[in-house]
Amino acid sequence: MTKTKTVIKTEKVECVDCSSCGQEIEKNDAYDFMISNSEDIQRNGWACEHCVENIVSFPVIYQTLGENTNWGDVALAIASLAFAVMFILKSIQMLLPLIM
Ligand SMILES: [Zn+2]
Repeated sequence: MTKTKTVIKTEKVECVDCSSCGQEIEKNDAYDFMISNSEDIQRNGWACEHCVENIVSFPVIYQTLGENTNWGDVALAIASLAFAVMFILKSIQMLLPLIM
């Protein structure tokens, strides 16, 4: 079984383009990120400070998501979303007589 992990290092670099949003990053704000499969580094790139906090937006990670999706987390997320929608609908139902 192969595991994919993301390694983020903070290194001083020259001006580079963010791999996620495409903006130019100053060397002090750039993050070097790598996606490695076992010992072999497959992909690497640069990320700005904003995108490194929202790492799911990296296209490279989207590519590996299908093979490594934790379906328990997905189910939990869907359940939370369904609960939220039900709560909103219930709130609307309760508020509707007051508005009309
Ligand atoms: Zn960015």
